[in-house]
Amino acid sequence: MVSDIEKRIHEGMPGYIEALKRLVRIPSISFDNFDQKYVLDSAEAVKAMFTEAGYTNVQFLLPPSGRPTVYAESLTSPENPTILLYAHHDVQPPMREHLWDTKPFEPEIRGDRIYGRGTSDDKAGIITHVAACEQVRKALGDKGPNLKFIIEGEEESGSAGFAEILAKNAELLKCDAVIIADLGNFAKGTPSITTTLRGMSAVNVTVKSAKAPLHSGSWSGPIPDPGQALCRMISALTDKDGNIAIPHFEDGIVKPTPEELESYGSLGYSEETFRKEGGVLDCVKLNVPGDKILETLWRRPSIVVTAMEVGSRTNAGNVLQDSAYARIGIRLAPGMDADACTQMLVEFLQQSVPNGLECSITAEDGANPFTTDIAHPFFKKMSEAMAEAYGQPTKFIGCGASIPGAELFRSTLGDIPILMTGLEDPECAAHGENESLYLPDFEHGIVAEALFFASLT
Ligand SMILES: [Zn+2]
Repeated sequence: MVSDIEKRIHEGMPGYIEALKRLVRIPSISFDNFDQKYVLDSAEAVKAMFTEAGYTNVQFLLPPSGRPTVYAESLTSPENPTILLYAHHDVQPPMREHLWDTKPFEPEIRGDRIYGRGTSDDKAGIITHVAACEQVRKALGDKGPNLKFIIEGEEESGSAGFAEILAKNAELLKCDAVIIADLGNFAKGTPSITTTLRGMSAVNVTVKSAKAPLHSGSWSGPIPDPGQALCRMISALTDKDGNIAIPHFEDGIVKPTPEELESYGSLGYSEETFRKEGGVLDCVKLNVPGDKILETLWRRPSIVVTAMEVGSRTNAGNVLQDSAYARIGIRLAPGMDADACTQMLVEFLQQSVPNGLECSITAEDGANPFTTDIAHPFFKKMSEAMAEAYGQPTKFIGCGASIPGAELFRSTLGDIPILMTGLEDPECAAHGENESLYLPDFEHGIVAEALFFASLT
């Protein structure tokens, strides 16, 4: 039966690619300064797909913004496990349109990739779920798992209403596991399950010494310079290798298991590749040795100054500035708590203000990091299904970025396995120009999910 499913998916691929194209043609950018009619159009298109495929209880779950999340289900029997399938139908803006080789919302296949905004992030996630479910319903009928879909409409603009949607519909969404098809593979052709995400937070700091800027010749010397004061505060946050100096900041960190470290090591990621992909200048010495790069990206916190202002470059002159500003961003490793760490950062900064300068700090909303226990049997089943579909061993990887939805699913639906898959890869340029999807892995991803469903029976 396994080869049967694979065969039918292979035959169905032209149709799945067409379905993907239809969604990509809708510019469903979920930012207020874009026409929100298209987010509604894409929600309608997704809804129609479910209705035509015979799903039941198809409906919009509406957040306060009105950007619909689409729900649908196919229930077989209470005896069977229930899997909740997540993806999102909104997209990022096209960014700098002149840098696209083809129009962002006119999908085009070149070589083994299809180009267009949303191809990999995350309209391929929707079609992966739809296609895998279609085949499994055909092959297994009532023996297959209960399937529930939740296709969000405002992930790219921050998921502001998602917590409310989950809380209001917790009973409807009840399940034994969630598959979030919104991440990616470590490399094309390398099946990957993401098991950790970093959290994030940021603070805005202003220090002030005088009521207004002053002539530097007449006034500098006795009066402390806010620019240098702020730099001292910032430099106290870390040592020269980027290790964070705030006491107790890292107390909660969950260390990677030997299995995870082995999986990271087996990826064969080199310092050379990292430097090339990140455009790091040859003269720059990294904070960590090459064999620690992935662990540092995925399992260690970081602090960076994301913006800084003392006067302005266009008006630079001989001025003693009255104030200085910086935005300081933190990335949090699994186990750390966003609110607690933000508070520690604020207090540490306040305690390090030199010369009694006036200091005001505001904190932005943070997102908690995420980690999932891969001991649950579903991870083994998914890992085997992916290895079978791709013909390559599955890797357990981390992600340095944040997806608030992962933690929200668990806090709302209970301590269930959250399987994070997806079809982004290092070449896909998600969020950038010329976003694309690697077509062979599109098929592998669909087969993998279908085989996973089949393994649950
Ligand atoms: Zn996404």
